[in-house]
Amino acid sequence: MRLSRYFLPVLKETPSEAQIVSHRYMLRAGMIKQASAGIYSWLPMGFKVLRKLENIVHEEQMRAGHIPMLMPTMQSADLWRESGRYDGYGEEMLRVQDRHGRDMLFSPTAEEMFTDVFRSHVKSYKDLPLTLYQIQWKFRDEIRPRFGVMRGREFYMKDGYNFDLTKEDALHAYNRHLVSYLRTYERMGLQAIPMRADSGPIGGDYTHEFLVLAETGESEVFYDSEITELKFGDREIDFDNVAQCQAVMDEFTSRYARTDETHDKALFDQVPEDRRRVARGIEVGQIFYFGTQYSDALGATVQTPEGGSVPVHMGSHGIGVSRLLGAIIEASHDEKGIIWPEGVTPFHCGIVNLKQGDEAADGACDALYKSLVALGLEPLYDDRKERAGGKFATMDLIGLPWRITVGPRGLKNGVVELTCRRTGESEELPPEQAVEKIA
Ligand code: ATP
Ligand code: MG
Ligand code: MG
Ligand code: MG
Repeated sequence: MRLSRYFLPVLKETPSEAQIVSHRYMLRAGMIKQASAGIYSWLPMGFKVLRKLENIVHEEQMRAGHIPMLMPTMQSADLWRESGRYDGYGEEMLRVQDRHGRDMLFSPTAEEMFTDVFRSHVKSYKDLPLTLYQIQWKFRDEIRPRFGVMRGREFYMKDGYNFDLTKEDALHAYNRHLVSYLRTYERMGLQAIPMRADSGPIGGDYTHEFLVLAETGESEVFYDSEITELKFGDREIDFDNVAQCQAVMDEFTSRYARTDETHDKALFDQVPEDRRRVARGIEVGQIFYFGTQYSDALGATVQTPEGGSVPVHMGSHGIGVSRLLGAIIEASHDEKGIIWPEGVTPFHCGIVNLKQGDEAADGACDALYKSLVALGLEPLYDDRKERAGGKFATMDLIGLPWRITVGPRGLKNGVVELTCRRTGESEELPPEQAVEKIA
């Protein structure tokens, strides 16, 4: 992409309404524009990163054997009355009436819709296990929308629902989700720690939230520092292998790690003092096993091998896809701007032409651009007639992992400058070698 033909409305001024760094940088880098409180337009670069995150989530869900589909955002209140949640959900639910006076709502989550699809089509244990999911916009009329996309009212969420014959099978689905989430966050360059969370009135131990440590996080968290040393890495997982998924679950959840809702001081005190950490975190996902709550209420039953009929065991599992943009920036930035992890960067590298209009510089930039594209990479070429300082500031702000700087002086010696955004280190080298390093 040539910057002169792109739409990247960078702001010079720091927007005063933005209290935290990710919100500031997303506005300044022209990624989002607020449409109304907690509701954002996704400008091209923000949209590009959102799509990248969404793709990673899809790939990892499908790898785990989960099946994508799509539910409507506008839902009839009747289904929610059947589950008993219409009245109970409270003010976060946006309720509207259609022209016939029928009650509708903008989906804040979709347990009812998925259970309804399930009960309409699945009748036998032979069709289980089944995990369906979607990535779809949600609406929650948050009392205090803030921090940009981190606590929006309209936000993009992956929500998945497992349907299983037994509790045991459903717990395997729970573990499968934990494993797939660990992979997902690591691919995004994030460490998200599974922490025991509050399962509410249903009780049981079966819910974990995934938290990214950050000072601006809204949750207070307590953990054993050993947990931050765990890496999922590139281990091969067979998602059908119950023991293997259970082993990952045990490994990642055996150390103390809890949010304030479930914090137990006596247990925490058993962690060696030098490993006890109290910090703040951003909730980027949650997994939940809730048994037959919805299948009982909505009559989602299947025939058993013995010929009887039982309600299915279910769980629901969410990832805050749009919130992740904010979380990634909170976890990876400096005073100049964003530092995108390789896996989610909107462009792989920037090309800065120090002297637009100079034949040698223009030619070298074009050639670099072509060779990067030929390797399947996406460069962003700043081909505007701007001062070098302004071009550098823009590149630093938008945080691409690499920058290649091309100028007539270097070209006389056959070199360009390659700069790593994360370390700030630069080296001069021939253009072909710069391309090799990036690829
Ligand atoms: P929170 O505690 O932050 O209000 P939640 O527990 O209500 O989140 P869930 O119902 O668990 O949210 O939804 C799954 C995921 O969706 C959350 O882990 C979070 O990443 C994301 N999410 C929830 N609410 C919002 C929001 N208002 N804006 C952006 N993302 C959100
Ligand atoms: Mg909430
Ligand atoms: Mg929560
Ligand atoms: Mg939650």
